[in-house]
Amino acid sequence: MSTATIPLLDAVTQFISRPKKMLIDGKWVEAQSGKTFPTYDPATGEVITQIAEGDKSDIDLAVAAARRAFESGPWPRLTPSERGKLVWKLADLIEQHLEEFAELESLDNGKPVAVARVADVPLAVDLFRYMAGWATKIEGNTIPISVPYTPGANYLAYTVREPIGVVGQIIPWNFPLLMAAWKLGPALATGCTVVLKPAEQTPLSALRLGELICEAGFPDGVVNIVPGYGETAGAALAAHPQVDKVAFTGSTEVGKLIVNAASGNLKKVSLELGGKSPSIVLPDADLETSIPGVANAIFFNHGQCCCAGSRLYVEKPLFDKVVSGVADYAKAIKVGPGLDLSTQMGPLVSEEQHQRVLGYIQEGFAEGAKAAVGGHRIGDKGYFVEPTVLVDTTSTMKVVQEEIFGPVVCAEPFTDLDEVVRKANDNIYGLAAAVWTKDLSKAHRIASALRAGTVWINCHNIFDAALPFGGYKQSGWGREMGHEALELYTEVKAVCANL
Ligand code: ADP
Repeated sequence: MSTATIPLLDAVTQFISRPKKMLIDGKWVEAQSGKTFPTYDPATGEVITQIAEGDKSDIDLAVAAARRAFESGPWPRLTPSERGKLVWKLADLIEQHLEEFAELESLDNGKPVAVARVADVPLAVDLFRYMAGWATKIEGNTIPISVPYTPGANYLAYTVREPIGVVGQIIPWNFPLLMAAWKLGPALATGCTVVLKPAEQTPLSALRLGELICEAGFPDGVVNIVPGYGETAGAALAAHPQVDKVAFTGSTEVGKLIVNAASGNLKKVSLELGGKSPSIVLPDADLETSIPGVANAIFFNHGQCCCAGSRLYVEKPLFDKVVSGVADYAKAIKVGPGLDLSTQMGPLVSEEQHQRVLGYIQEGFAEGAKAAVGGHRIGDKGYFVEPTVLVDTTSTMKVVQEEIFGPVVCAEPFTDLDEVVRKANDNIYGLAAAVWTKDLSKAHRIASALRAGTVWINCHNIFDAALPFGGYKQSGWGREMGHEALELYTEVKAVCANL
């Protein structure tokens, strides 16, 4: 394992050495309690820096600031065009600091800096630009109505879409900046105000983003950023009576807690949750693209993607060939610190995830699964795990049913299409799926039969700001990105005038 890491940019070292406060009402402040918590470098397990630790009292202040900013002040008086320009400006600022964000993501999350440069940061920039364009296009309808009990009356009826209000946003650690963008983009385009809680494992890029939000000129209180733990800051935000909507990305388990917490004031809820996405390889698939394709589907971002292709179904005649191809691919992956430019796969994000993923692999072995490749920790420092392919799995095993959120794929053969569709759908999740075949008619028939929010054909992990993303079943409520996301941040008002 190589350890030749790049020197950090001066801007990154300077940022890390500044005190990490929280952004409330346009000001950087310490936690009310004065407490801080550490954020760790997953490649070494060492503390990077301390972060102000928000809890209920800080959330109260942040929500009050967001409420004021929503109801009075300059934000609600801005024209849609002015709002869009601010969002676009934020995108420009992120782009100007692309390298800095790539290094921060790599340092805090462990992902390869080379990946963050071409994926995480540019996708975040693009999301903000896409949403900036929508700010001027949030339209209603005029509706011809025919009220039967007022014969002869003439009405003008129309709808307007209004911002939903103060939004609490709780995000995970797997794509820290991008998840902040997915959440903030539609909220700001529609004129909402926000309290954002980044994941405790990866708060750095959201705090740097907060600095750029101030620099872009968003009015005070429009975006408040409160780092802290889920059980304290997150739970307070989800339950807050002055919050109109909570948007959450994370585990299905916590998603259910959010729903319960939100019930106090029946705030609107959108959820982007877990997955156990199937990759399906048909016998006519082009193996030169399918083998790296299904391997990347699971190993990209170290399997820490809610849409990771963590179940691999291959039609029987091709099974051995595909599995050995994926195993060879896995063996060749360069695992190392994210800040080493040759690294293709970094460490898992935390000690907890490291234990969890290794625990799942052990449970798989205990239930009879075998490793075609991988299955172990790498080294004794940092949270590295071998890219792993499990075979001899059956559909009732925990490793096949539950989300591992690590670089572990379970491969199973199948004999006909009905069987593979049944197996693919036999899961509580329904986030994504992929089909690999040259037979487009079969591909579209399978796409139609799969209960999943995204179906990729001959590709995987293709994201675009214009393409809605979200889950069927226990993978969530609502969609991120695309114009579908805007619906979750607006209320529809019907206005009816008797002329
Ligand atoms: P993961 O399992 O991927 O770490 P989690 O669902 O635990 O994901 O966390 C995602 C986000 O939810 C994080 O920001 C975390 O702090 C937050 N969170 C965790 N528990 C709660 C909770 N009880 N209420 C609100 N937010 C929570």
